[in-house]
Amino acid sequence: MKKIKIIVFLFLFLITTKANAEELELKYNLRPMTDNYSVIDGSVQNELDFFLYEDEVIYFNGSKVDIKDKYFSIDISSIEGTANLEFTNNNNEKVTFAYYIYRGNGLIEHRVSDLLAYPIFTDTIGEIQIIYTAEDIENKVLIMELMSRLPEQFKIGTERIILIPYRHLENKNIAGIAYMGEAKLYNLSRLSEKNKKIVLYHEMAHLWANKLIEYKLLDYSYSKYEGFAKKDKQYVSNYTKKYLIEKQSYSEDFAESIAQYIYNPKLFKKKYPSRGCYIEMLFFITGIKYEIGGMI
Ligand SMILES: [Zn+2]
Repeated sequence: MKKIKIIVFLFLFLITTKANAEELELKYNLRPMTDNYSVIDGSVQNELDFFLYEDEVIYFNGSKVDIKDKYFSIDISSIEGTANLEFTNNNNEKVTFAYYIYRGNGLIEHRVSDLLAYPIFTDTIGEIQIIYTAEDIENKVLIMELMSRLPEQFKIGTERIILIPYRHLENKNIAGIAYMGEAKLYNLSRLSEKNKKIVLYHEMAHLWANKLIEYKLLDYSYSKYEGFAKKDKQYVSNYTKKYLIEKQSYSEDFAESIAQYIYNPKLFKKKYPSRGCYIEMLFFITGIKYEIGGMI
């Protein structure tokens, strides 16, 4: 059922965009095969693959990239830590993708095997798996209930939710991580019910955004969203402010805004009318039927 919906969705979108698909801007034309902001195990992956919707000349680090049948690879074997890969074309358009590449002992918290010391339980809601331990049984019940009320179209990027019973090992402030269809939520028990909801919606918003990017309803730099967000003249949280200043990326602002909107749309629109307008537009074009109070 989910697949059919995605196909219909894609098809409708293709019809509407076909007419002006002649010369795509670089940020729409270049698609990474590994989601932007992914965490990568450099000990098993030496290359990152990219795909071009339309043929064009691409440069990486000033050198022309060798493209074969619309695909090319970038060697990451000498990169460790945060990598910002910047690509340009002959129109001086730029696009950057960020990855975190780890090696050696790796990032333990990025492996489900980290939960090996615990008996693991699995539940499913629709096609989404919820993986949890005995410590998170109550949180799992809450998550299942929240998930059952979320619109199906909003869940399209989420394949798995993993409830980790302890704090993130590297950064205790991290409440959740979303990558490759997976949302990991850390030590939910320490949070208020409101924050548990916000964290869940926030991580799911990242996964949803990845799908929208894949369908070209959003670009990697969130440039259209940025225009709307700036009009509100305020940040949605200290965290997103810090992220914006340090990484110049609106991805966190986007996820947090979606989360706060879902939690309380009336309040959100009052505080951030421009972002609210953009979110409602995005919900409309992605077929999310939204009723006040319906998703809380
Ligand atoms: Zn985030």
